Amino acid sequence: MEEQNHALPTSVDVAIVGAGVAGCSIAYQLAKRGKSIAVFDRRGICSGASGRNGGITGTGSALHASAGEAIAALTGENFRMLQDELSRELDDDFSLMVTGGIDVATNDEQAAFLKQAVVHQQAAGTDVEWLDSREARELIPALSESILGVEWKRNSGHLWPFQLVHALANGARHYDTRFITHTEVKRVLMDGNQVTGLETEHGTVEAGAVVIATNAWTRDLLPDLPEGAIVPARGQILVTQPVGQILPMPFSTNYDKEYGRQTHSGQILCGGFRRLDVDEGLGLYTEDSHTPAIGGIAHCLSTIFPKLRDLRVVRTWSGLMGFTADGLPMIGSYGDRAGLFVAAGFNGGGFSYSLATGKAMAQLVANGRSTLDIDPFDPNRFARGDAGWENPFTAGERNNPGKLSLDA
Ligand SMILES: Cc1cc2nc3c(=O)[nH]c(=O)nc-3n(C[C@H](O)[C@H](O)[C@H](O)COP(=O)(O)OP(=O)(O)OC[C@H]3O[C@@H](n4cnc5c(N)ncnc54)[C@H](O)[C@@H]3O)c2cc1C
Repeated sequence: MEEQNHALPTSVDVAIVGAGVAGCSIAYQLAKRGKSIAVFDRRGICSGASGRNGGITGTGSALHASAGEAIAALTGENFRMLQDELSRELDDDFSLMVTGGIDVATNDEQAAFLKQAVVHQQAAGTDVEWLDSREARELIPALSESILGVEWKRNSGHLWPFQLVHALANGARHYDTRFITHTEVKRVLMDGNQVTGLETEHGTVEAGAVVIATNAWTRDLLPDLPEGAIVPARGQILVTQPVGQILPMPFSTNYDKEYGRQTHSGQILCGGFRRLDVDEGLGLYTEDSHTPAIGGIAHCLSTIFPKLRDLRVVRTWSGLMGFTADGLPMIGSYGDRAGLFVAAGFNGGGFSYSLATGKAMAQLVANGRSTLDIDPFDPNRFARGDAGWENPFTAGERNNPGKLSLDA
């Protein structure tokens, strides 16, 4: 989609590694604040997870009670920016649809978890509500009669990820930003504790600050991150033939592990079932489709929405997420190295965080502090040993054979 560009600048204020939604968002916000920027990617813009995801976005999370308020604030600002700020500032239409969303309970354990999650999210300021099965089917008639209920998230929706990331990149280019694509960054250059730039496969660039926005690949450039702090997790998606309007809003189920939505064209896009992939998709760096996982996704879709049972699958793909040990992103300064910053590890939800992360990171790099609370996302928490190591997206996967409870 874009020309290969290897021409390196000699020196920039800030060098960003990774041209996904995180890197492009940070570039846009820093460039707007008058910094000269170079964004590097070993492939093209939006070639990582940002171009291979479900496009679902929203506020809050049922999964992290301990960081609930910071998550509500960051994702709330993210959703506000999508609706009020970026849609106005950026030239391109990224097809944002503010529809609300549901998290479906298919068994008693999920229902109990979601009812509790509604309570803690409401306390953190997120607009969510529990609906029983009848109420849920009034909202979305295509839902199976066998579901037990849903968490209804009013501040949610979906968008076209590819268009948003390119809109951010184009927005950054209006200011002083260069995208150096098809160029791998080999290492961060230091003088003592001070960042001085980057070494790439095509030469070196001086920079006053470096931001690592490489998500699944982050340990390549930060090898001293504790092993397991961030790991690649391969996610799969299928897309069906188009149908008439049947899913008015995105859905997820089973602790956010399965999810889907209907696109503008009427196609149903659905992903998840990583537990049926090779090694549950963990630690893989290949972006292949894997039939058992795709079969699980199809099964999930037709079980929760029986009317979709006879639809044909027309396309599948996969992408690599960056899973952190505790399931929270890493956003902030890195170690004791002056000028080194990280924005990575967005797990399964980068489009609910990355726009506000761009703002927080730009404030941090430019002013030394952010007005948004990013303390729970401190990238140094794993090295300090004060982070949990039970990512709720991952926990229990091996013990869960993948049968939806509606099968019974
Ligand atoms: C199948 C799937 C479904 C998903 N569904 C959703 C969803 O519905 N909603 C949601 O919010 N999130 C979803 N996600 C997660 C979301 O896509 C990610 O959280 C988000 O895209 C992360 O963006 P990023 O910019 O941090 O990383 P990426 O988009 O992965 O970008 C990182 C970039 O860094 C580059 N890079 C890495 N190392 C180097 C190096 N050494 N030198 C140069 N370049 C380098 C890579 O080439 C890549 O382009 C999904 C992910 C997948 C895979």
